[in-house]
Amino acid sequence: MNKFKNAIRTIPDFPIQGIMFRDVTTLYSNPEAMKEVTNLTCDYWKNRGLTSIAGIEARGFITGSIIADQLSLPFVPIRKKGKLPHKTISQDYELEYGKATIEIHSDAVNKSDNVLVVDDLIATGGTALASIELIKKLGAKVIGCTFIIDLPELGGRKKIEDNGIEVQALCSFEGH
Ligand code: AMP
Repeated sequence: MNKFKNAIRTIPDFPIQGIMFRDVTTLYSNPEAMKEVTNLTCDYWKNRGLTSIAGIEARGFITGSIIADQLSLPFVPIRKKGKLPHKTISQDYELEYGKATIEIHSDAVNKSDNVLVVDDLIATGGTALASIELIKKLGAKVIGCTFIIDLPELGGRKKIEDNGIEVQALCSFEGH
């Protein structure tokens, strides 16, 4: 097993009863574990013709920025509605209860870009699929998605792969 997995802390019943919250703050605060995460991710995606790294607010900003730096590529933020100051496009998606909207700057990527989408964790896949849609709307190609954690029981990874997009997940946990 990869050593970094032990650095992820689990908080039962947060933010609501029944959720096992996978807390990556303890991973982010461990430089050795973060080096392992960065190396596993960058070794996998280097030489794949990427031109841009898109990180999903907020935890995807942290790993996304490190990956962008390591691969010497531009970093693009995908943010919750109303946060980006310039012209944006938006995408709605379903949450367990209700809906949410994410946005990207209209000039963040274009049809010549090959993008890697980054977040800390994939659960139902709603957030990542909405991010993929945003990038596609701007005419760019999504080469793949990378996550530190997959929750396979929630089926998000499969949904993305069923859309023909490659997924890397560095580890997985049972349950929700
Ligand atoms: P989803 O759109 O269902 O794939 O949810 C993914 C987003 O929700 C990611 O940005 C995660 O950070 C967060 N998330 C969902 N479930 C968990 C969990 N059990 N522990 C920590 N974060 C979670």
